[in-house]
Parts: sequence; C-alpha cells; structure tokens
Amino acid sequence: MEYKTLVKRFLYAFLLSGFVFGSIASCAPDDNPERFEPGNRDGALNKLETGESATDLLSSENYKRLVLEMVYVQGYEPTATAVNKLKDFLEERLDKPEGVVVEEYPISLPEGENYSLEQVYELEKKYRSRYTNTKTGEISIFVFFSDRDSDKSKDDRVVLGTAYLNTSCVIYSETIRKLVTKRSALDRATVEGTVIQHEFGHLMGLVNLGSDMQGDHLDENNGHHCTDRDCLMYYQVESGWNLSGGLPGGGIPSLCSDCLADLRYNGGK
Ligand SMILES: [Zn+2]
Ligand SMILES: [Zn+2]
Repeated sequence: MEYKTLVKRFLYAFLLSGFVFGSIASCAPDDNPERFEPGNRDGALNKLETGESATDLLSSENYKRLVLEMVYVQGYEPTATAVNKLKDFLEERLDKPEGVVVEEYPISLPEGENYSLEQVYELEKKYRSRYTNTKTGEISIFVFFSDRDSDKSKDDRVVLGTAYLNTSCVIYSETIRKLVTKRSALDRATVEGTVIQHEFGHLMGLVNLGSDMQGDHLDENNGHHCTDRDCLMYYQVESGWNLSGGLPGGGIPSLCSDCLADLRYNGGK
C-alpha cells in the first residue's frame, strides 16, 4: 500500500516535470535558476495536490529540514506571536532533526480586487524562491499573507485561509484583520496563529488527506475536516464561523487525539 503510494507520487512528479520543463524552457528563460537544480527540476515536487507530501513533511526519511518561505504584501506581515507558535507546533509534530527554518519577506503589489486561487498561485510562481530539494534533504513550504479577501468569501461566511497544493497555502490577512476589528473578543495573533496551524494540518494530511485515519473522525459533510468541535481541524476554524463567538479556551485550539494519532502513524511525532 505504502509502496504503491510512493510509486504514484513519483510517477506523477516525473510526468509533471516533463510537462513543465517544456513550457518554462520556451517562455520564461529568466526564471530563478534554483528552479533548475536537479534535486527538484522546475519545482515539480511542489506542484502536487494538498496532502500528497504529508509523509515527507512528517517523517525524517526523505527530508531532514523544513524551510518555511513566508511572503507578505507590505503592511500585512504576520504577527511574531503567530509565527513563533507555528514554529513550536511544527517542532512538536514533525520529525525534522535539522530543524525548521523560517524566512519572511515583503512584496509590493498594487491594490486590486479579491483573489481567486489561480491568482494566488500566479503570485507564488512569481515570488517563491525555495523549493523542495532531494539532494539537500530540504522540504519547503510557501505561505502567502494576502492583502485582499478570497473571491469565495461571503458576508456570512468568510474564508480565512486555504491550503491549495502539497506545499502551498494562503492566509487571508486582510479578512482576519476585518474579523478581529468587528469582534473585540478576538485578537489578531490568536486568529492568525489558528488559521496558519489549521492550513498546516491539511498539508500534513488531515483529515484523511494523505495521513490515513486510525479511527473514524472525518466530517463527511465538510471536506477533509474533523468531527471534534474543539479540534484545530474542525471545519469552522477555516471559514470564520466559530471564531465569531471567541475561540475555545481563548487560545489556539489543539489537535484532538484522533488527529494526533494519524500524524504519528504517518511518521510524525
Ligand atoms: Zn480546513
Ligand atoms: Zn481532530
């Protein structure tokens, strides 16, 4: 079973690599040279579906170090508290003997309309500089802190973050700021920290998204989320509903025992 998954993953990566190499060679000769390192030709290992790198993120078998590349629109930098708590969260869960490295930098963008995921991905392609590298044993995650709302946000249900590829996620910082302004019981660092950790939960394969369930806790009606209302992976965490009344216990929710068991079984701590 595990062997089959690996074969599929690498076959997929290989096919993608061939396709993307052809298109980059013909139209983007000035791309970041790091993209052409043989350890991950064209960043193909970073173009898989969400959850497909769960094992590689959790275990130390293929990658010993994690690099987080955090890119924010000028003025929308994440709070230091949220970033530090994310680092602690990852160090507790991931088996990465060479540690977790965080890199943060701003970009400037003109004002505009809300973002579709396609537009976010275009920005990733333009600004991402760190890619997973099999030679150096480094797996990389790209996080974009957005100055605009998601085009999926509605008045009664806002989108606060989305994990959209195996090593990519977007945090809608502007949406979080507006939510916090409206609800005085919430503070920005806690909401931001909660949303980032929730999206990383998806990248780690939760729920049933690359980390096989050890017990049944999949919320069938709400995608790859957990049935436990107090869990970090409960679906309303991402869409801002249960944040409206304040967070449980006032802090960032923890992962429930079922979610923790799935991560451990898939190579995590
Ligand atoms: Zn979610
Ligand atoms: Zn859970």
